[in-house]
Amino acid sequence: MPNIDNSILQEIRFSEIKRKDISLFIKREDLIHPEISGNKFRKLKYNLKEAKKLKKTSLLTFGGAFSNHILATAVAGKLAGFTTVGIIRGEELANNLAETLESNDTLRQVHLNGMKLHFVSREQYRQKKSIGFLEKLKNRFGDFYLIPEGGTNCLAVKGCEEILSKDEAGFDHICCAVGTGGTISGIINSVSKHQKVIGFPAFKGNFLIDEIKKYVSEKKNWSLNNEYHFGGYAKTTDELIAFINRFKKETKIPLDPIYTGKMVYGVVDLINNNYFAEGTKILMIHTGGIQGIRGVNTILRRKNSSTID
Ligand SMILES: *Cc1c(COP(=O)(O)O)cnc(C)c1O
Repeated sequence: MPNIDNSILQEIRFSEIKRKDISLFIKREDLIHPEISGNKFRKLKYNLKEAKKLKKTSLLTFGGAFSNHILATAVAGKLAGFTTVGIIRGEELANNLAETLESNDTLRQVHLNGMKLHFVSREQYRQKKSIGFLEKLKNRFGDFYLIPEGGTNCLAVKGCEEILSKDEAGFDHICCAVGTGGTISGIINSVSKHQKVIGFPAFKGNFLIDEIKKYVSEKKNWSLNNEYHFGGYAKTTDELIAFINRFKKETKIPLDPIYTGKMVYGVVDLINNNYFAEGTKILMIHTGGIQGIRGVNTILRRKNSSTID
């Protein structure tokens, strides 16, 4: 079972941080559950409650072939007694399902947890919000509770408002990775005025500011830093992979290459470039994603690139 008490605060001591006047901590949401990635648990919590309240028996959601959200929904849904359906981007993956499940650890785990997989083309996938497409899915799979791609909606943001507690009120900056913006929105809503939230988008995307504004109304104490996406969503560089490996070797903390690795790289770089004032206390949120490492390693190996330890 997921356990939020596992989400401990840890001080980071890392030799590559050149300044000694900054204190840096990380909140280990990745330890909540090995498969229900930290922030995905927060995002699902009130959605599953709502689905129960509405007497739904099935959950349907959308994601890519390595999606933390898809796996989290499959596992959390199963634990809560729902049947689950995953609409997966990439119709070619259905051509040889046995081979897909053999070579893709995420989808294999998803499948083992009983999620029904439905592979669609990229064009179909883009209709994920269209009423017509959702109606077709209802005809095919029966009634369901819809969880959007990445899990972000108002109830997800409400869940993410519980990531920070009173223990973290003393931090000046809260840093987190950003995908759809749901997690950072919850964090922004839960911090006090003197705290600043910095988001590190995992891809190049200018629509994120408007997405986040939908959930945080008038709050102004937040910003996005777009310098550390490393070429785009799920793109990596040898430099990023080497950083993740050095960080783990010294701190024993694993980072994923899609979200948290990029964010931690960014925070360390900003510290070393004197972005933060003397004495600043920084908290990074480890949102999880560890399950995705194997999938990225498979791809890196195919390219003969170095992999994550
Ligand atoms: C999904 C995810 C994010 C991004 O969360 P959003 O709420 O979509 O912004 C960050 N880190 C990890 C590990 C994730 O799986």
